[in-house]
Amino acid sequence: MDDRIINEFRAITGDAGLFTRPEQLRTYECDGLTNFRVMPAAVVLPSTAEQVQAIVRVCHREGIPFVARGSGTGLSGGALPHKGGIVISLTRLNRILEIDIPNARVVVEPGVINSHVTEQVAPFGYFYAPDPSSQSVCTIGGNVAENAGGAHCLKYGFTTTHVLGMEIVLPDGSLVHIGNKTLDEPGYDLAGVFVGSEGTLGIATKIILRIVKRPEAVQTLLAAFNSPDEAGAAVSAIIAAGILPAAIEMMDRLAIQAAEAAMRAGYPECDGLLLVEIDGPAAECASLMKQIKEICATWGAWELRLAQSETERMTLWKGRKAAFAAMGRVSPNYIVQDGVIPRTALPKVLREIGQLSEAAGLRVANVFHAGDGNLHPLVLYDRSVPGQELAAEELASEILNLCVKAGGSITGEHGVGEEKKKFMSVMFAEPDLDTMQLVRCAFDPTRIANPEKVFPRPRLCAEKTGPYEPHPLETAGVAQLF
Ligand SMILES: Cc1cc2nc3c(=O)[nH]c(=O)nc-3n(C[C@H](O)[C@H](O)[C@H](O)COP(=O)(O)OP(=O)(O)OC[C@H]3O[C@@H](n4cnc5c(N)ncnc54)[C@H](O)[C@@H]3O)c2cc1C
Repeated sequence: MDDRIINEFRAITGDAGLFTRPEQLRTYECDGLTNFRVMPAAVVLPSTAEQVQAIVRVCHREGIPFVARGSGTGLSGGALPHKGGIVISLTRLNRILEIDIPNARVVVEPGVINSHVTEQVAPFGYFYAPDPSSQSVCTIGGNVAENAGGAHCLKYGFTTTHVLGMEIVLPDGSLVHIGNKTLDEPGYDLAGVFVGSEGTLGIATKIILRIVKRPEAVQTLLAAFNSPDEAGAAVSAIIAAGILPAAIEMMDRLAIQAAEAAMRAGYPECDGLLLVEIDGPAAECASLMKQIKEICATWGAWELRLAQSETERMTLWKGRKAAFAAMGRVSPNYIVQDGVIPRTALPKVLREIGQLSEAAGLRVANVFHAGDGNLHPLVLYDRSVPGQELAAEELASEILNLCVKAGGSITGEHGVGEEKKKFMSVMFAEPDLDTMQLVRCAFDPTRIANPEKVFPRPRLCAEKTGPYEPHPLETAGVAQLF
C-alpha cells in the first residue's frame, strides 16, 4: 500500500494503532474458519468512532476495500481480509458507555466482549441473553454483524431481538444513528436491516442493547437416550406440549467423547444427550420440569439427571460450550457446519447425515441447538491425508443441501461470509438476491465495505437488476455459475 496512505492512517491512530509488518498482519489473515487466508495490506486499530470515520473516509476517497473485525472468532470467513484492502479492528472500542437499569438498556462500543455485558449488569439482577458459545471472547460488534445466536436464543431470541439502536459509520465515512432506546421507531427498521449484514453496510460504533431480568429459578436437566432419533423426538414432543424451555441442546456420542476428554463434564456415554434448561418463577419451573422428565422418559431416556447446584449446572454447560474446541481431542482438523432444519425433521436429517458420513468415510460429530433446529455437524478429517480436506468440504456442502431440501436454511447463526456465498443461489432466486443487492448498494454504492462476501457473484451497483442473463460461456457449457 502506498506510503502516503499508510502515513495518513498513522496520523489518525498513531503508531500504536497501525500494523503493517508481515508478522503483525499474520494474526489477521483469517478468522475462525482457517481454510481461507488473505494477508491484508494493513490493519488499523482505532480507539474512537471519530477515528473510524477518518479511516473510512480515506478508504472511500481512495477506493480501498475495508473489512471490520471484532475478535475474529467468526466461522464463515466474514472477517477474511480483502486482497489489497485493510482490516479495521474494533477491539479498542471496548467501553461500556451506559448502564440504564430502570429502562433495562445498556449502551456499548462494538469491541465489548459479549460476556462482559452480563458481568456488568449481574449485580443489578439482569443479564444479556444472546449467549454464543464463544461469548467469553467474541465482541458485540461481531454478534451484531452475524446476528449471533446461542443456547438460550430459543426462548429469548437472537441478537436482533436485543439490539434496539446503533451508531454507524457508513462506507463514505458519515455517521448515522438508527433505532433508539425506545421501541417501535417510525420509518424503516434499519437496525433490523443492519443486524446480520456481516460488515457489508458499514461499521457499528455504538450499540444499544436490551437486557433481561434474571429469572427467579433455573433448572437444567441432562437426559441420555440410546439414539439421536429418540432424543430428537423428545425435543419435538417437549415443544409440541406447549413448553418453551430456555434452551434445548443435543450432542451425539462422538461430541460427548470429545467434550468429556476436554472438560470432564460427567456426561454418560450415549448416542443422544439432551441438556434441557427451563427458567422462570420457581413454582412454574418445578411443574414444567416434571412434565419434561415424563416426556423424555416416554421417548426412552434412561438417565435423567437434574443439576442439584449451580456448580453442577455450570459443569453440564461447560461440556456443551467447549464442544467445538474439544474436537481437537478426537481429530486433527474439522469443519464446523451450520445449517437449520425444521425441528420435526431432526431424526430424519440426522439419519441422512449418518449415511453421508459413512459413504464419505469421514466421521461427523453432532452438537447443536436442537430447540431451534440449528444443526452444527462437525466434519472430522486429517489435512495431512491427501484429498481428505476436499472430501470433508464436499461432505459439509452435501449436509447443507440436505438442510435446504428439508425446508431449512444454509446458516442459523454463523453467517454466509466467504464460505457460503455460493449457496445463496441454492436458497434464493435471482429477484431475491437483486433486492438484497439494492439494499446493500443504498448503504455502500462503491462496494468497499467487506466486498465480495455474502453474495454469490460480485455485481456493480449501477448494474441493471432483473432476470439473470447467463454469460455466453455458461450457455456453451464451458463455465458454471454457483
Ligand atoms: C468455539 C466457537 C463457538 C461459537 N459458537 C457460536 C454460537 O454458539 N453462536 C453463534 O452465533 N456463533 C458462534 N460462533 C461464531 C462467532 O463467535 C460469532 O459469529 C461471533 O458473533 C463473531 O464475533 P467476533 O467479534 O469474533 O467477530 P469477527 O469474527 O471479528 O467478525 C464477524 C463479522 O462481523 C463483522 N464485524 C465485526 N465487527 C463489526 C462492527 N463493529 N460493525 C460491522 N461489522 C462488524 C466482520 O466484518 C465479520 O463479517 C462460535 C465461534 C467459535 C470459534
